[in-house]
Amino acid sequence: MVDIGLFGLILVAIAAGFFLGWRQRGRRLQQDSHHFGPSYFKGLSYLLNEQADSAVDAFVESLEVNSDTLETHLALGNLLRRKGEIAKATKIHQNLLARPSLTTPQLHEAQLELARDFVHAGLLDRAEGLLKELVDVNSQYKVEALGHLVEIFQDEREWENAIEAANQLSHRRFGRGSGEPAVARAHFSCELAEDAMERNDVLGARRHLHKALGFDRQSVRASLLLGELESRLGNDREALKVLQRIPHQDPELLVEGLDLVCTCYERLGDHRGLQRYLQELLAQYPSSSLVIKMAEQIRWAQDDYAAADFLGDQLRQRPTIKMLSRLVELHLLHSEGRARENLQLLKQLVDQVLEAKPSHHCRKCGFTGNQLHWLCPGCKTWGSIKAITGVEGE
Ligand SMILES: [Zn+2]
Repeated sequence: MVDIGLFGLILVAIAAGFFLGWRQRGRRLQQDSHHFGPSYFKGLSYLLNEQADSAVDAFVESLEVNSDTLETHLALGNLLRRKGEIAKATKIHQNLLARPSLTTPQLHEAQLELARDFVHAGLLDRAEGLLKELVDVNSQYKVEALGHLVEIFQDEREWENAIEAANQLSHRRFGRGSGEPAVARAHFSCELAEDAMERNDVLGARRHLHKALGFDRQSVRASLLLGELESRLGNDREALKVLQRIPHQDPELLVEGLDLVCTCYERLGDHRGLQRYLQELLAQYPSSSLVIKMAEQIRWAQDDYAAADFLGDQLRQRPTIKMLSRLVELHLLHSEGRARENLQLLKQLVDQVLEAKPSHHCRKCGFTGNQLHWLCPGCKTWGSIKAITGVEGE
């Protein structure tokens, strides 16, 4: 299918290019009898015959590359890339790079654009080579080049390289979403720590996690992983110390460490300590998961009825579907006959509603899902996904 928009685009570019070329030639020759070079007409005829590839060739041929026309070449190349015409954009940028008449900064700009073409085409090795050159020669496009390099290393899961490139950006934001560089660097270190944990490299994992906290003191992911590491090693007290930092780091991620906190307290046989801790949290940061955990503790210390009473009270204060589901579950344990059948039906309905609703969402782009992604799949921002709150969530 022929893209009419693309033809329009190239036509406009040829017209603009022709105007610039004509103005320049006009100045040189002081005559206007040869405005339309043969390549221009050739380009036009290709357009009329809907041959976009040849039209781009004709454009490249017809418009001399110099300081006056550089912007036109770059603008057309970038527009073509945005429209997904990567091969044509590449042709235009490569044509610019082959012109020694351009100044060094102009050549660097063309090189950056060509690297962007390669990124879009998925030719990451080629893009990486061009971008590294721009960084090495300290080009004025170094920051942009480093931003793209971070993205490439991130996509390739080359975390050490990603940290190194991001370090050179210091406090500047880079590429796509990404978010705060310090936050991103902490996540890169956490990725390295997860790899080390998979290899049972305890020392390596600890080193990466402390580095992550060095980048970002508020890194919940680093605290969670440190807690997991210590608890795996049987250091439950140490794990608790780390995990209990999470509510202060980011209360919105508090529920993510809750299961592990409970496991550590339970393994230590410290049910009173757990109840006290849950109570303190509940007073400051009420959520469905906390209420359900607290109800479990009441159930363990007293009985199902006391737990159901507690859940009922909490539901009246802050109704959520999750708490309702747990309350119905508790009542089901002590009901029979018709009442039990009705409760089962209610439980089914409530659980269907819960299943249909996402549990997490991205604060930045609105992406929703049923698990916590540290890197938002929608906008590629680190740490922007949180648990959903309200009746349908926490
Ligand atoms: Zn997002």
